[in-house]
Amino acid sequence: MTPLEDAQAFVLESCPPRTPVTLPRERAGGLVLADVVVSTETVPPFDNSAMDGYAVRSADVATVPVDLTVVGEIAAGAAPDGEVGPGETIRIMTGAPMPPGADAVVMVEYSERLDADAAGNERVRLSESVAAGAAVRRAGDDVVVGEELFFEGTQITPAVEGVLASVNAQQVKVYPRLRVAVLSTGDELIIDGSPLEPGQIRESNKTMLAGMLTAAGCDVVDLGVVRDDEAELERVLRGAAADCDAIVSSGGVSMGDYDVVKAVLAKIADMTWMQMAIKPAKPFAFGKLDGVPVFGLPGNPVSSMVSFELMARPALRRMMGHTQLARTSVVAIVDHELRRAPDGKVYFMRVNGHFADDGRYHVAPVNAQGSHQLAATASADAMAIVPDGTGIEVGSEVAVLLLH
Ligand code: AMP
Ligand code: MG
Repeated sequence: MTPLEDAQAFVLESCPPRTPVTLPRERAGGLVLADVVVSTETVPPFDNSAMDGYAVRSADVATVPVDLTVVGEIAAGAAPDGEVGPGETIRIMTGAPMPPGADAVVMVEYSERLDADAAGNERVRLSESVAAGAAVRRAGDDVVVGEELFFEGTQITPAVEGVLASVNAQQVKVYPRLRVAVLSTGDELIIDGSPLEPGQIRESNKTMLAGMLTAAGCDVVDLGVVRDDEAELERVLRGAAADCDAIVSSGGVSMGDYDVVKAVLAKIADMTWMQMAIKPAKPFAFGKLDGVPVFGLPGNPVSSMVSFELMARPALRRMMGHTQLARTSVVAIVDHELRRAPDGKVYFMRVNGHFADDGRYHVAPVNAQGSHQLAATASADAMAIVPDGTGIEVGSEVAVLLLH
């Protein structure tokens, strides 16, 4: 049996990051930067008010209440016109540029509009003293020109995309989104909703894997279910290799007579067949077909899921430029015994987890651990990594991989 770490290292080694491309920012959401982003603009671009209120000379409000003459009004988007002289103020809205002369803003909550004076000038009474700079957002206090904002390896989250927009970064150099073909194999699989004939089951893996690929940020090319027919499978796989950056298939990689994926890939691709020292997901195949990585996942649905998590997802992430490849791992407290038998394998037991009053993450196994029991696994929050032996007792610690 192949230790998991060896298999993972081999697969990752064979899946280097793809050649970066330059894309318009609005098409780069979710992708990973392939270069540092240096700002060419200042944010905010000018000193502006953080509040709706009155732009003042702070010296004028040293003693309050004080009555000032309102010499203008300025909204966000307007250019400042007019200056604030001694004894004067300009009514200002959030985001509007600070008028010359003023050095602080008194919030509107501390103002009271007065009757106009004899000359018809608008007057306001202010009841808060403010220091110079109060409620003023300085030009460049978020971003300055020349600042290195984001480094290679940063994922363009919505907030990052927002920052890129705020500095007018129209184009970004990123690792391209992967186009990944997914297929299930097996004569027993029904996908179209028709009544089941004896021996038939409903397909689940391709549906699940397509969703997992989407969640991992890949574009999915859904090849559906392929019969256990060598010629048909060869045609589909060759087509996928010509059209996609990677291929994920489920089923047909173990030792059975009808493991057609194995027969076909052995003939047309450069494959490594593994019996991994883990449970579930012992059989696994990886290789290249016309240079395109092929992940041959086992057919049992839970095995398929675990195999994708441990083998395919990290490799696909690497191809997309991510540097954090594995799921986040935390140490959890075992609330319900994680029982197993010694057999030389590491078990990835599906668990439900929660943060308890002690501030620690506690886990208990989902109620069925069979590799065909996807319904139980679907409720899992994490996978507990249970080393070879007889399991882990209540109250002991276990490392878990968080799935969400
Ligand atoms: P295989 O790896 O092809 O030998 O399949 C192992 C087990 O998983 C068998 O019981 C299959 O019927 C089942 N299986 C294979 N592919 C799927 C699928 N796409 N959806 C649901 N079950 C599957
Ligand atoms: Mg099969």
